[in-house]
Amino acid sequence: MLSTKKSLLAIVSTLGLSVGLTAAAPALSQPSQVLNLYSARHYQTDEALYAEFTKQTGIKINRIEADDNALLERLRSEGKNSPADVILMVDAARLWRAEIDGLFQPIQSKVLDTRIPKNFRSNDIGQGSQWFGFSSRARVIVYDKASINPKTIDTYEKLAEPANKGKVCTRSGSHPYMLSLIGAMYELQGEAKTEAWAKGMVANMARAPKGGDTDQIRAVASGECGVVLTNSYYLARLMRSTKPADMQVVAKVGLIWPNQNGSGTHMNISGGGVASNAPNKAAAIKFLEYLASDSAQQYFANGNNEWPIVKSVKTSNEALNKLGSFKQENVSIASIGKNQIHAQKILDRVSYK
Ligand code: FE
Repeated sequence: MLSTKKSLLAIVSTLGLSVGLTAAAPALSQPSQVLNLYSARHYQTDEALYAEFTKQTGIKINRIEADDNALLERLRSEGKNSPADVILMVDAARLWRAEIDGLFQPIQSKVLDTRIPKNFRSNDIGQGSQWFGFSSRARVIVYDKASINPKTIDTYEKLAEPANKGKVCTRSGSHPYMLSLIGAMYELQGEAKTEAWAKGMVANMARAPKGGDTDQIRAVASGECGVVLTNSYYLARLMRSTKPADMQVVAKVGLIWPNQNGSGTHMNISGGGVASNAPNKAAAIKFLEYLASDSAQQYFANGNNEWPIVKSVKTSNEALNKLGSFKQENVSIASIGKNQIHAQKILDRVSYK
């Protein structure tokens, strides 16, 4: 009997199988020294971030980098056989999509529980999967200093007022950045007010929505648009640019932190979680905990001109420091993600392209 078991183990070992026999054969379940990272981030400073993790833990990182949609597509098609251990994405709207698709799993981590603020992570209850923010960004208002009085556009609501007819530009309303902003508004003000706002925005457009956030800022400088919405890091990126054309753009535009006397400026995150079928779960948790460490937080945020999510960590980004501090909106990022379905329905009803 004993020899039968021994020879069975020998066969299993030769085939590289461990199913159902791991308890009897501890030698087969050696801790893995590899982490498969699926990331929608691609910043030069991330190299140093990943190298430091390998140095600290001996765990090698295999990276798959693609934009968010391509990553989601790949994860869906790989299904249960996906080798992904950690998935990193940007914006709560996309993280929530990934959660609904069952791409994350729940994990236990005291480090993440204490270091990541509650409003910047998924609800632990419900879907049975978790994701965490690791950096934050704000959705801000940028305007033409030559033609616009900042007092007339210092809230998201004012952009939709009749006085701003023909002045407003945004990217497509269906983009995750817009869906999240509208999702937050829905959470704070309800459906009727949010729909009235969206209708007012459509009426005020200087042109049909097109391009990305940087294109909106450039359109302010060129005079095509008076006032636009953009994520903060696009402005910070232009501020750090040494290209004459970018410097000219920055010189012409002003920044508003919206809703400072009310609910505060809309915040979003870039973040991630442990993949639902992670072959190297322990390494994956270790990696997320590493991302929440002081030094990694600096790198992670700085790579895209964002703010660290761990409050005690200070940013060393000159452009961001120059922009100063502001009042942040305090809406749970999980509810924002969920509300994107309501947001899209509202946009469809008011024909916000
Ligand atoms: Fe972006």
